[in-house]
Amino acid sequence: MTPASRDSSEADDLLGRVSRAQDLPEALWIFFESVLIEAGIERSLVLVEREKELRGVLGVGWNPDAARAVTIELEAGENKLADAYAAGEPTFVEYQNDGRGIESGKYLTYPIPTGVPDPSAFALLIIGPDDTGSEAQPEIVRALRRIGPLLRILDERDALRQSGSQTEHQRDLLTSLVNALPDPVLITDAENSILLENRRAEGLFSTTEGDSEGRRRAVEINNLVFSSFLTRSAFGGADPSARELNLVDPSEGGDLLFEILSTSLPNPLMGDSATVSVLRDVTDLKRATTELEHQFKRVRQAELKSSRERDRLNLILENVGDPILVTDDQSNIILMNREAERLFDIPPGTDLQSRRRQEVRANDTKFSSFISEFALSADSARVVEFQLTDPDTRRRFPAEVVSGKVVNERSEMAAIISVVHDLTKVVENERLAAELSELNEDLEDRVRTATAELEERNDQLEWQSRELERAYRLKSQFLASMSHELRTPINALLGYTSLMRDQIYGELTERQNEALGRMYMASQHLLELVNDILDLAKIEAGKMPVHIEAVNVGTLIRELSQTVEPMVRRKKLEYRVDVEDDIPVLETDRTKIKQILLNLLSNAIKFTHEGHVSVSARTLPNGQGVEITTSDSGIGIRDENIPKIFEDFRQVDQSSTREYGGTGLGLSITKKLLHLLGGTIEVESKLGEGSTFTLRLPIRSEEIVLDKEVSRAARDADDAVVNKSETG
Ligand code: ADP
Repeated sequence: MTPASRDSSEADDLLGRVSRAQDLPEALWIFFESVLIEAGIERSLVLVEREKELRGVLGVGWNPDAARAVTIELEAGENKLADAYAAGEPTFVEYQNDGRGIESGKYLTYPIPTGVPDPSAFALLIIGPDDTGSEAQPEIVRALRRIGPLLRILDERDALRQSGSQTEHQRDLLTSLVNALPDPVLITDAENSILLENRRAEGLFSTTEGDSEGRRRAVEINNLVFSSFLTRSAFGGADPSARELNLVDPSEGGDLLFEILSTSLPNPLMGDSATVSVLRDVTDLKRATTELEHQFKRVRQAELKSSRERDRLNLILENVGDPILVTDDQSNIILMNREAERLFDIPPGTDLQSRRRQEVRANDTKFSSFISEFALSADSARVVEFQLTDPDTRRRFPAEVVSGKVVNERSEMAAIISVVHDLTKVVENERLAAELSELNEDLEDRVRTATAELEERNDQLEWQSRELERAYRLKSQFLASMSHELRTPINALLGYTSLMRDQIYGELTERQNEALGRMYMASQHLLELVNDILDLAKIEAGKMPVHIEAVNVGTLIRELSQTVEPMVRRKKLEYRVDVEDDIPVLETDRTKIKQILLNLLSNAIKFTHEGHVSVSARTLPNGQGVEITTSDSGIGIRDENIPKIFEDFRQVDQSSTREYGGTGLGLSITKKLLHLLGGTIEVESKLGEGSTFTLRLPIRSEEIVLDKEVSRAARDADDAVVNKSETG
């Protein structure tokens, strides 16, 4: 084998071994072993260009760390190794140690070729110091030329591997950094799908195989809420309150409140519009804030309330008319209202000798000694009375002081509140009350005496009234029997006078006839009078008999008309009758109705000189009775006389007796009879124009007033009287 072929086979062997090396240092070591150490070179170092520096990689006779520590900047100007690298061919370098890790000495340097023009070298082999092995130079150059390109590839692969592992490392760091964040962080795409999330976010927004149904539900809700938030903010929801997000704690189920910071990613690596959201858990913060706000509000309210109460208290104190004082546990006055100030406080600037000062001091001394004593006692309240002086009016007055202790939570006395009452009025009232009660007793005595007297008089009156009633009854009985007795002789008188006037007892002279005529008239008047008195007496004695029968009002009025018509004709008056058809048949005393109407009609004729006299009858609108009216166009009655005409023996004008005759009893009897039959009478009259009398009668008289027993008894009594007179 020729040296050249041996050389080339060795070189092929070297190339093969280097190509199998895992990395640059291993490849270099193969080169060192088989070329440099073989050549007896004891110290050498390979530097590789990296980022404008030559950095030590591996050396023979070098401490590995020291070798790796060597760095030589390529662009820093004056550096012989840098120059040697740039030279492109083996060069001798006299190196001065300049702190770059290479000691001073003579070195032989070999730029390691890349096999291509640019860059022609990628590393530098330096051999030395001093032992440069220059004799092996050609072999070294050859070996380097052969394996240079391979070494470069290895170097690049190493560099690549190194940078790759760095990125991974950085990513790991970033991941742990993001995961270490206590806040959930998420990256979402345009469809709000989560692209990336940290561990805290996973807890809220992601589920795994074995998760419970509850957790899944919570995560689902959170995703919905979050996604809708993102959509909202994408449409410009810039409202700061809208940056709050209510989520559910998937593990505990409680409410969580987050504040969100969302930003579009500046580097759109993840798609067109990825969004980074950082959620800050503000649940506790919010809770604390709310609690603080509540507390603040409560404090504020309490403050307000207490200030209002204070104001109210002051208002009350100032407006209470009674003096109020508050003293502390040392009996010093700490609060007074205006009234108390007036009594117990000396206004500033008061003359030292003034009477006012003396009076106030006297008041104060009394009050203070009472309060000091009370403060030391075990009592909780006390009431005393003493005299005070009003310094304004200088009036002395009895005062009552009511004091009570105020205790603190440790049951110690904190203050005493005292209210002063002016007792002047009370004392005065007590005096008045005593006087009043004395007067009262006196009055009661007098009332008792008066009552006794009254009772006695009452008894007397009762007795008198009984006597009177008896006398009245006796009078009526007397009148009834007397009138009856009287009628008989009057009738005899009338009868004989009539006979004489008819000249039964011989002829009469003109004067005798006239005298007899007067006698007849007088007797008739007397009879009328007696009859009336008899009626009146009977009614008053309750002995007027009443005979109830069916009465046809029309028929009755026709009969009456026959009686009165001659009188009407004599006085040349117009006589009108107006009786309504269908007047109901009355059940009443026919004779008495006739007597009543006859009386009214004869009065009407008597008191009418010209014009008319009329009688009318109609059914009352309620159908309960009948109304009969007599009216005339006669002399009428004065207003003031109208109430009198129904009184006994009452003739309105005394002179009318002479002119019109009559007894003054007719209307009185009429009214009483009507009363007996349950009827009423009313009169309307105008002086000089005429009068109208209106009767109202019930359909059935007895129902209303008549006691049949009474009326029967009355009839019996009357019959007895009649019988007596007949026998007489
Ligand atoms: P006398 O029997 O006097 O008529 P009365 O009781 O019947 O008594 O009447 C009382 C008085 O009422 C009469 O005196 C008369 O003054 C007055 N008087 C009664 N009816 C009429 C009448 N129709 N017109 C005017 N005055 C009358």
